Amino acid sequence: MPEPSDTQTRHDQHGRYPQAATVDDFRHNLAAVRARMDVACHRAGRDPGGVRLLPVSKTKPEASLRLAYAAGCRLLGENKVQEAFGKWEAMQDLTDLHWSVIGHLQTNKAKLVARFASEFQALDSLRVAEALERRLQAEGRALDVFVQVNTSGEASKYGLSPENVQGFMKELPSFPALRVRGLMTLALFSAEAERVRQCFILLRNLRDQLRQSAPASIGLEELSMGMSGDFEIAIEEGATVVRVGQAIFGARAMPDSYYWPTETAGTQA
Ligand SMILES: *Cc1c(COP(=O)(O)O)cnc(C)c1O
Repeated sequence: MPEPSDTQTRHDQHGRYPQAATVDDFRHNLAAVRARMDVACHRAGRDPGGVRLLPVSKTKPEASLRLAYAAGCRLLGENKVQEAFGKWEAMQDLTDLHWSVIGHLQTNKAKLVARFASEFQALDSLRVAEALERRLQAEGRALDVFVQVNTSGEASKYGLSPENVQGFMKELPSFPALRVRGLMTLALFSAEAERVRQCFILLRNLRDQLRQSAPASIGLEELSMGMSGDFEIAIEEGATVVRVGQAIFGARAMPDSYYWPTETAGTQA
């Protein structure tokens, strides 16, 4: 196996992850990802206990999610709220299974997130913060949130521009039901590891700067960055959460442009 963090990322191998079809497949894939995470931690001189693996189950059927649960997953990431809500409803019997919404949210779906999610990683506007706060108050719940930052500069990617994050953070104490944990980003999709790495470095530097000015109630411990194709690089640059789908569940049928619209969809390596 090639060293994962030399010149190539694995975005170009999305089609090659085999489907996980049994509990043993999931156990094996989870252990393999965890082992790669640990190696990356050691390389970076970091404590492996400081990096959480968030398995991402989007597009996968309920049966797959149940296998992942049987293999030990207790928190699953989903990109689309409606889909996540449906799965949550169908799996009420798994009372200790928790849900992280990691995709862009429209205000009219805030009500659903407030009902079932324990974490929301894609906060990128005050309108969404307001909608979530109101719905969470109504439910008597609180939600862990990450502020999504656009570190790749691609106009089509969601997230705040880095220069707008400080001002945004200053507003967040007015939303007490939102427990701010840190920042989240999607790196550039590129086969050039160094360009991917720059996105992660940008997020870490931004976090370090914000720490000096952020209101006391705002947590900035967490950096959610890295996916199947680039999580080792993200860990080397300080990730505390990696969001890994295909390396655990198997390849998705849908192209990535379905989740993250880009002008250059299909042409990226
Ligand atoms: C799908 C998704 C991931 C996981 O991507 P994989 O290539 O399956 O590892 C991570 N983050 C977000 C926001 C996603 O939508």
